[in-house]
Amino acid sequence: MAIGGTAPATLLKSPREIDIMARGGVILRGALMAAKHAVRPGVSTMELDAIVESFIRSHAGAEPAFKGLYGFPGSACISINEEIVHGIPSRKRILAEGDIVTVDVGVKLDGMYTDAAITIPVGQVDAETQRLMDVTEASLAAGIAAATPNNHVGDIGAAIQAVVEAAGFSVVRELVGHGVGFSPHEELQIPNYGKPKRGKKLSVGLTIAIEPMVNVGTAKTKTLSDKWTVVTADGKRSAHFEHTVAITENGPRILTLG
Ligand code: MG
Repeated sequence: MAIGGTAPATLLKSPREIDIMARGGVILRGALMAAKHAVRPGVSTMELDAIVESFIRSHAGAEPAFKGLYGFPGSACISINEEIVHGIPSRKRILAEGDIVTVDVGVKLDGMYTDAAITIPVGQVDAETQRLMDVTEASLAAGIAAATPNNHVGDIGAAIQAVVEAAGFSVVRELVGHGVGFSPHEELQIPNYGKPKRGKKLSVGLTIAIEPMVNVGTAKTKTLSDKWTVVTADGKRSAHFEHTVAITENGPRILTLG
């Protein structure tokens, strides 16, 4: 990780641009909630993808940002159980009672991008899986709370890592959060681990996707032969929650709330 310095000024957004992102973020949250309401045993990940896409496109000027991004075929990345991220929607992937499913969505509105994800239980899940989801969501909240002006990228990662490791789970290292706004993935990386006061300084106007990916077992990952789906190396479960957050003078502003 780079130490010191500030983020490039070209990544900073004006209050007006941040407000556009917040409007996109409301649509994004609505799309995630529409998917959540549709989750039940017997539903395919392709059906969830269609719900996300039609919800986004029902809003004037809004587009699913992941569709075609780097060649990805879906509007949402949909990942089940040991799949961490980047699962490809398929009519052959059917949700079953006790599964967990992560839906990760990007929205482009008026030229600005937002990115968010939730992990959703399918019916009743076992106690450890519920704890995995709760800890991952709590680690996201801790990371967001650390996203204040003059803190550093490492403060976010350290806050996330502390929550996850205190619970006995592991933080994925091979995938990280990122700058977002003018493009879906800006160059600034936001790891979900780190040391306080290390890494680039957080400037007012920076907009970042904070996205802990948390595993029950090993932190190690592998990528399936479809070249997209990233899974845990040991086959144990993984959860993922993500918000797009702006660094403001008043502290972190979550842009992907409903
Ligand atoms: Mg992201």
